[in-house]
Amino acid sequence: MKDNYDIIVVGAGPAGSITAKTAAKKGLSVLLIEKRQEIGDPVRCAEGISKIALKKHIEPDPRWICADMKGSRIFSPDGTSVQMAEEIAGGEVGYVLERKIFDRALVYESVKAGAEVMVKTRATGLIIENGYVCGIKAMHLGKEYKIRSKIVIGADGMESKVGRWAGIDTSLKPSDMETCVQYLMSGVNIDQEYCQFYVGKKIAPCGYLWLFPKGGNMANVGIGILGSESGEKRAIDYLNEFVKEKLPDASIIEIDYGGVPVSGTVERTIANGLMLVGDAARQSDPVTGGGIINAMDAGEIAGEVACNAILAGDVSIKSLQEYEDRWRATIGKAIDNGLIVKDLFVKFTDEELNSLAYSLKDVNFNKMSLTDLLYALFKANKKLLWDLRVLF
Ligand code: FAD
Repeated sequence: MKDNYDIIVVGAGPAGSITAKTAAKKGLSVLLIEKRQEIGDPVRCAEGISKIALKKHIEPDPRWICADMKGSRIFSPDGTSVQMAEEIAGGEVGYVLERKIFDRALVYESVKAGAEVMVKTRATGLIIENGYVCGIKAMHLGKEYKIRSKIVIGADGMESKVGRWAGIDTSLKPSDMETCVQYLMSGVNIDQEYCQFYVGKKIAPCGYLWLFPKGGNMANVGIGILGSESGEKRAIDYLNEFVKEKLPDASIIEIDYGGVPVSGTVERTIANGLMLVGDAARQSDPVTGGGIINAMDAGEIAGEVACNAILAGDVSIKSLQEYEDRWRATIGKAIDNGLIVKDLFVKFTDEELNSLAYSLKDVNFNKMSLTDLLYALFKANKKLLWDLRVLF
């Protein structure tokens, strides 16, 4: 470890690794730090990802792909199912990954590009001078270090502190996040080519329950409910009820807990000498909670903008505005639209969800474009068209 870098990236998830790789490829000196001793472990993810979006960043590798999906089945509260092909089922169900290996592969890509990596290294604060972030304080194996850089990237995930240290408000209310719990289960006899989603107030209030196949007879079986819905009955209680009824013979071989921001975008993701990416910047999809692709897309933009700013000798908030503008014009637009859909979805009663599913159950989604899908949906549900008019 040196005491000075062009860029320090805090957090070696997908956002941090892609940022580090992009910046290092452009010739910048990059330090990527990770507080855990093992990259990607524990997993806090259902591990679904869109194939097309993934290929923009890395060539798929069988070492970290557990299952290849044909599509999704969505079950309404009364059990009516709607089947969708992978291309139109939304961005999160093309492959089911093994993130413990995937996250490492991404870090390895950043190392190949020239980034330096330190695990078991926790950022504990920022060095701020004359209103500029110019490095971090970090703990590594019981010793404190001060490491300087021209830009710090906060890629420290859902529980991000880097933004707050720089005066950016990234706080989340319970209604701004899904609280999730997931079991990795063996002995799950489901169609291994389809992800399953279960919706409804009695199953997963203001969220959904998922079964994502992981190959063999394994699956991620998890649930996310809005934090504000978690009271006496918690996410894990809903999940246990489902498992007891539908998967009585399956065994739990891993338990993961985590939160997903579904708040929509924060007001600002930059400061002098600082950018936030991925979950730290609240860039996950408010409807699905999926955030891997957005984190990688934002990481690439951040790496490019960091390079431009450093070459121009200007790391002020004005110079880093390019990052803010670029991600908001792409990822940000999708998040804003997603927030409208999510706010509508959480108001649906179980009866409305049943009626929606019923109107779509015989539609052949395999042959449909997304526009055809929306048309079919709205033809059957005029009120929905009215509620979502702002999207068109
Ligand atoms: P993370 O992957 O969280 O990485 C942040 C990293 O920063 C971590 O490794 C952490 O240890 C490290 N870190 C934190 N603080 C510090 C510090 N002070 N110093 C050093 N390192 C630090 N998304 C999908 O696309 N598909 C899914 O199927 C999906 N399912 C999900 C299911 C659950 C239960 C949950 C909780 C989330 C799910 N997500 C899913 C969301 C997805 O996991 C995240 O959006 C994605 O991991 C965000 O990537 P990131 O790099 O921003 O953050």
